[in-house]
Amino acid sequence: MIKGEQIYEGKAKKVFATDDPELLIVSYKDDATAFNGQKRGTIEGKGIINNKMSNALMRLLQKHGIPSHYVEELSERDTLVKRVKIIPLEVIIRNISAGSFAQRYGVDEGIVFASPTIEFSYKNDALGDPLINEYHALALSLVSKEELETVKDLAFGINEVLKSFWASCGVTLVDFKLEFGRLSDGTVVLADEISPDTCRLWDSETGKKLDKDRFRRDLGGVEDAYREIMARAEQALGEEK
Ligand code: UDP
Repeated sequence: MIKGEQIYEGKAKKVFATDDPELLIVSYKDDATAFNGQKRGTIEGKGIINNKMSNALMRLLQKHGIPSHYVEELSERDTLVKRVKIIPLEVIIRNISAGSFAQRYGVDEGIVFASPTIEFSYKNDALGDPLINEYHALALSLVSKEELETVKDLAFGINEVLKSFWASCGVTLVDFKLEFGRLSDGTVVLADEISPDTCRLWDSETGKKLDKDRFRRDLGGVEDAYREIMARAEQALGEEK
């Protein structure tokens, strides 16, 4: 597979064309941003961990019938994916209160919800990814009604698979963000990444944060936390084989 011209550079990844118009190569960087790009930094080795972890989780999800853009891991940082048109919604599933949810409603972090919640943000950097409800997303034609139902079903299904996977690692899946895309035939699939950048992962025993909140909140030990969560995932994935 030929890595062609760079067609996009995001905050944490670069995207390259290939010789197949239906396939792209995603390349994971160590760059980290938070608070809509206001905080910037580098997490040494993060790109390697996020690439490996996201791919492993997408393979696990595929085994559970969740379609995704994932095709093949090419190297430490590079992965071959199906070209999709990203649906401009960030889909956030929460099992436990944290982050912007806790702030918005003035509640503590760590409240375990009776059932998971879903919310959407409109992917628009200039506007700071504002919260959006389903009616507004439909009104703006960001997504069709049928696609929205698929997105919700897939997102809650993904939550069940990931919750039990992380539980087997001694980790609580607090919340996470997903993105979906349309293949050239219109099929909606999971896209982007699932990693400690996009999930809140707490040690089930101690509550220690093993995710990007260590960077966002200057908690220290960021690199160690990424290495630890990857080691735990690898151990559980090894046992699963
Ligand atoms: N998240 C993300 N990208 C974003 C916003 C949120 O990956 O642009 C993830 C975040 O890591 C967390 C979940 O989505 O796991 C919920 O984040 P929240 O809305 O609480 O926002 P935050 O407090 O991270 O700003």
